[in-house]
Amino acid sequence: MDCPKCGSKHHTKDGIVHGRQRYLCKDCRYHYTVVQRSNVKSAETHRLAQKMYLEGIGFRGVGRVLDISYGTVFQWIKKAGKAASPIPKTIIDLLRNIKFVIMLVF
Ligand SMILES: [Zn+2]
Repeated sequence: MDCPKCGSKHHTKDGIVHGRQRYLCKDCRYHYTVVQRSNVKSAETHRLAQKMYLEGIGFRGVGRVLDISYGTVFQWIKKAGKAASPIPKTIIDLLRNIKFVIMLVF
C-alpha cells in the first residue's frame, strides 16, 4: 500500500486503529490506515496466488507480482493447504518430468 501523502512504498506497520492496519511511511513519517479491500477482489487475488504457487512460483515471487507481502501469500497457501490439500510439489515436478520424457520419446 503506497503512502497517500508522498506515494512511497516504504512503510512499516504501526499498530491497529479501529480494526484497520495502521502504517507509518518511512520517507515522510506520515501515519495512515488502510481500508479493507472488498472480499470479492481479495478472493480473486487469493485464488490467483494459489494458482501461481502451484505453478511453482515462490511466495516472494507471487507477492511481488500481486503486490502483497510474501507473509500474506504464505498464510493463504498454508490455509488453503489445510482446507484443500493441494497436490504436493514433488508430484507436480514428477508429472512435469514425465511429460518431458514423453516429449523426448515421441
Ligand atoms: Zn509518505
